[in-house]
Amino acid sequence: MHLYEKRQEVEAVVAGYKNQHETIGLVPTMGALHKGHLTLIEQCLLENDRTIVSIFVNPTQFNNLKDLEKYPRDLEKDIALLNNLSQDIIVFAPNSNELYQNNIETKGYDFGDLADQMEGRFRPGHFDGVGTVLHIFFELLQPDNAYFGKKDFQQLAIIKKLVALENLPVQIIGCPIYREESGLAYSSRNERLSKLHREHASFIYETLIKVREKFGIDNAIQLRERVKKQFENNPYFKLEYFEICETKNLQPVSVFEKSKKYRAFIAVFADDIRLIDNIALN
Ligand code: AMP
Repeated sequence: MHLYEKRQEVEAVVAGYKNQHETIGLVPTMGALHKGHLTLIEQCLLENDRTIVSIFVNPTQFNNLKDLEKYPRDLEKDIALLNNLSQDIIVFAPNSNELYQNNIETKGYDFGDLADQMEGRFRPGHFDGVGTVLHIFFELLQPDNAYFGKKDFQQLAIIKKLVALENLPVQIIGCPIYREESGLAYSSRNERLSKLHREHASFIYETLIKVREKFGIDNAIQLRERVKKQFENNPYFKLEYFEICETKNLQPVSVFEKSKKYRAFIAVFADDIRLIDNIALN
């Protein structure tokens, strides 16, 4: 594992790889690494000559200051986990002023309809922040491939759009959602869950599984109503949104068509901890 905190240093390393015609894979993360992150990094190691993992809690994608402050950070532990995986990983962990060159500003992107729903709707400015930071990473680190989890499915679609809009020479690769035995999707925020919330956290994935079971029997309106009721009767989690969208364009649907693919999306609060998940319905 080689740790770089300065843009210039990592830029020189990247230039060296490019000179040798080595392929570069990038896994952008906000740290507090868990097994979900590690599956992305393992795939990246397999598919590229060089693997860069960025660890950066990006201020411009947080619409809630408390969430940013409370976001778990443990670089030492992250480094130990990465060293365990491979000694060859390059870690880029700049601070905000270094990455943004003392100008922490969000760029505006035209992500169109993709950004109107779900995360875009409930976290205003979030996707512009995601786009801003990834645009910087892609230009600085020049990856051939970049790996993202389907846990943030809407983000994955936004990043593909960013790459198309800006004509960036990077292939975006979506990776499966990695779950705990209970079904709870691994997330850095899980660390902050109380024992009680943890014990009941399987409820989120179970809700999605039930929706998948009823898909094709109930229509989208009935499915949404059922989920809403289930959460009204659940004392542990507060539903922020539940949505069923066409996979291709992430637009909410009311009528299902046989030829199309659909996905269900959910965001819930456990106290002040926000968790998201999603599932393919067909
Ligand atoms: P984060 O550090 O939360 O920004 O996540 C970094 C990357 O890891 C993103 O592409 C996430 O979608 C992905 N990721 C986070 N949790 C999981 C998970 N449980 N399974 C698969 N990918 C994940």
